[in-house]
Amino acid sequence: MINFPKYNILFFVLAIPLIIISFFIAYWWIFILLFFFLYTVGLTLSSINVRSNFYMKVICEGNHEKNSISITFDDGPSNINTPKVLEILKKHNVKACFFCIGKNVEANKELLKQIYKDGHIIGNHTYSHSYVFDLFSSTKMKADIQATNNIIFETINKHPKLFRPPYGVTNPNLAKAIKKLNLISVGWSLRSFDTTAKGDVNKILKRLHKVKAGDIVLFHDILDEIPEILEKFIELVKSKNIEFIGLDEMLNVEVYN
Ligand SMILES: [Zn+2]
Repeated sequence: MINFPKYNILFFVLAIPLIIISFFIAYWWIFILLFFFLYTVGLTLSSINVRSNFYMKVICEGNHEKNSISITFDDGPSNINTPKVLEILKKHNVKACFFCIGKNVEANKELLKQIYKDGHIIGNHTYSHSYVFDLFSSTKMKADIQATNNIIFETINKHPKLFRPPYGVTNPNLAKAIKKLNLISVGWSLRSFDTTAKGDVNKILKRLHKVKAGDIVLFHDILDEIPEILEKFIELVKSKNIEFIGLDEMLNVEVYN
């Protein structure tokens, strides 16, 4: 798979003949513009594809040989829906990973303690989850992510090692920040698109039917539909004789520093 440095080398090598040819043709600037357009499109598509491994390594699936999957929840904790999620997970004895937003942890510290006490893994999903997070400088990103780890440490005495990029977007600044913080980035192989449910749970479950061993599944524990989706999804996975395991076991990594 091509990565950012190799991509730059490739375009640099292609640019040399293009510049030479441009001396001999009319409308040469059209080709130059097209060249930069294609270069930018490649960078953008790689940035929004969490599985590209273009700017940084993001683990998006687990071991297929283990007949199991891992479920993950982003954007919480939510004092309304996270307790319902915890109840369902407890009932079915399922261990999950919660990628928490720092400002939500700050507002729900007792809930974070409960998630941890129930045996789930806590991951970092930035402090602000800002819409413009990907435009932050590397230093600002690092401070934002570190702020969440600090709050989580104050609450459960653990420094999370797992990080999930907001919106699954990666770029060189994030790569630099994650490297400095020595975190492990985790994406997903099956996206539930639960944020688009808008009351239609069956639409989401239809998509989740393709679940297979090794999948890391993305949900959001802040949604009103999530308890119903989760309950039905667990039944679906059980009917396929697939087990649930935590990300620590699935990826064979330490989840706290
Ligand atoms: Zn998110």
